[in-house]
Amino acid sequence: MSTNTYSPIHVIGGGLAGSEAAWQIASAGVPVVLHEMRGVRGTDAHKTDGLAELVCSNSFRSDDATANAVGVIHAEMRLAGSLIMASADRNQVPAGGALAVDRDGFSDAVTAAIQNHPLITVVREEVQGLPPREWDLAVIATGPLTSPSLAAAIQAETGEDHLAFFDAIAPIVHRDSIDMDICWYQSRYDKVGPGGTGKDYINCPLDEEQYNAFIDALIAGDTVGFKEWEGTPYFDGCLPIEVMAERGRETLRHGPMKPMGLTNAHNPTVKPYAVVQLRQDNALGTLYNMVGFQTKLKYGAQAEIFRMIPGLQNAEFARLGGLHRNTYIHSPILLDKTLTLKSRPGLRFAGQITGCEGYVESAAIGLLAGRFAAAERKGEALSAPPATTALGSLLGHITGGHLVSDDEPGKRSFQPMNVNFGLFPDLEPGSIVKPEGVKRFRGKDKTIMKRQLLSARALKDCASWLGRN
Ligand SMILES: Cc1cc2nc3c(=O)[nH]c(=O)nc-3n(C[C@H](O)[C@H](O)[C@H](O)COP(=O)(O)OP(=O)(O)OC[C@H]3O[C@@H](n4cnc5c(N)ncnc54)[C@H](O)[C@@H]3O)c2cc1C
Repeated sequence: MSTNTYSPIHVIGGGLAGSEAAWQIASAGVPVVLHEMRGVRGTDAHKTDGLAELVCSNSFRSDDATANAVGVIHAEMRLAGSLIMASADRNQVPAGGALAVDRDGFSDAVTAAIQNHPLITVVREEVQGLPPREWDLAVIATGPLTSPSLAAAIQAETGEDHLAFFDAIAPIVHRDSIDMDICWYQSRYDKVGPGGTGKDYINCPLDEEQYNAFIDALIAGDTVGFKEWEGTPYFDGCLPIEVMAERGRETLRHGPMKPMGLTNAHNPTVKPYAVVQLRQDNALGTLYNMVGFQTKLKYGAQAEIFRMIPGLQNAEFARLGGLHRNTYIHSPILLDKTLTLKSRPGLRFAGQITGCEGYVESAAIGLLAGRFAAAERKGEALSAPPATTALGSLLGHITGGHLVSDDEPGKRSFQPMNVNFGLFPDLEPGSIVKPEGVKRFRGKDKTIMKRQLLSARALKDCASWLGRN
């Protein structure tokens, strides 16, 4: 069959995700119309009209595919013929173990490849509402700064509670880095709640001296300011913890750090002065978020200050906290496993608007949305990538891996997420074994081996998903 017999798929937004989605669709032999508003209307952060403009840092983060989840997703995307990765590789600048790029060279390479592809037509226009019904297959990839009229249309379709304009991110900790000789499992007042056991939270106890030192550190910590166009998005129930600490030394002890209804299982006769609670964040139970700890502290300050909390002294963070202008939908409720809006068959979402975070992750979700859309147009079945791959674990998190919390204000517990090993299913029991000839095999060595095994498994499973082995 000639490729031109397919009617086009419309991709809205020519950023990291939309460019990758368009490329994947065209590479499958299906025509694409890519609608990008820059050139006609700008955003508050973009400075050029180039496709896939990097709005801030020029780094794609670690390129280590042997033991880093970001490096693994790079490698999987390269295997899948990613335009974003090929353009990054061709425009690399020295950055140690990271993949950093010449931002203009990178964006120029993506723009040229898209514009020169015979199956892709680029239209410079703002799409102001949901795609018309005659665009039977479409992908919305308009990013964190989706134009207001399209955002309003998405909100009308999904419901007010299911589109956020700011994220309010509390740090997420790898469960296996929490010291359970200090912490204990308990829900406040042992409440069982829907789906709970009465032991759903991990609790970290602080005595008065530790609490005061923690508050001093919070108040002294360096913070990131808001950009002028972001405004100051503080709303009830969602103040950064350092702002709460500044409002009064006892504020946190009467808020997210209140000790009431909790008994330290390791020391039941001594009431903690304050308690930090962590709640399970993903269905796998590998990640826990710090309840109520959204923050504007700089990343370096966060890691240092949060490791002052007893039990978190060796905490490994899957994600640090933040508060940014960011348009994103409540994907675990709204999207099916192929990124299609359940209420509008044929309409997919891709990129940061789905609740992933970062250039690479946005492009990765664009890659998947593009492949799913092309397969649908061609009447082919396309299974989702296995959960053991970086692509599959990120997709799984967005479309259902996150646990929705019943007890947080606003019920907006789904927050943007980077790819990290906490999203991967665990290894088979007994996979981590001391290598022959090695005398001391410490916790750190086991962690490195675990990451290596997870990486190798992911790459092997991704290759088989793509029919490459
Ligand atoms: C200020 C800021 C700083 C950031 N810094 C970093 C960083 O350092 N590192 C990192 O990894 N991530 C960073 N991010 C996140 C980054 O934006 C995303 O990771 C990435 O660009 C998202 O890719 P995307 O394709 O989803 O969205 P984008 O790359 O933003 O692409 C969306 C595109 O859609 C277009 N568009 C919007 N509305 C419409 C419409 N109605 N019709 C047609 N076109 C439309 C936009 O013009 C844009 O080109 C930052 C985000 C912001 C806002």
